[in-house]
Amino acid sequence: MPEMNYSKKLRGWSLRNAADANQLLEVTCQFCRRTYRFFPNDLLKLTADVSLDRLASRFRCEICNRGDFMSLKVVQIWGTEYGKLPVRRLVKINTVKMPVWEDGVL
Ligand SMILES: [Zn+2]
Repeated sequence: MPEMNYSKKLRGWSLRNAADANQLLEVTCQFCRRTYRFFPNDLLKLTADVSLDRLASRFRCEICNRGDFMSLKVVQIWGTEYGKLPVRRLVKINTVKMPVWEDGVL
């Protein structure tokens, strides 16, 4: 994938597109250089099919706990990388019960 107009390209490319094209999403924290790789299909279990330029800001780095230095790249999966490239897999989704209260009168 050529590097030119990269942000424009991400705008026209969605999670579903990346999943269909057998691509990985590489999210890097520019602050501490930690890279996380995800399968688009895993992310589709957590969010709607959004365009990729809107996705980077939704990640948070586990090391520095910042979200404002995250950059996102689309990576094509090549056969030679199977069994070698570290990828973060979604194990399960915990649903947190959050009470919503409202003060009324008797
Ligand atoms: Zn970081």
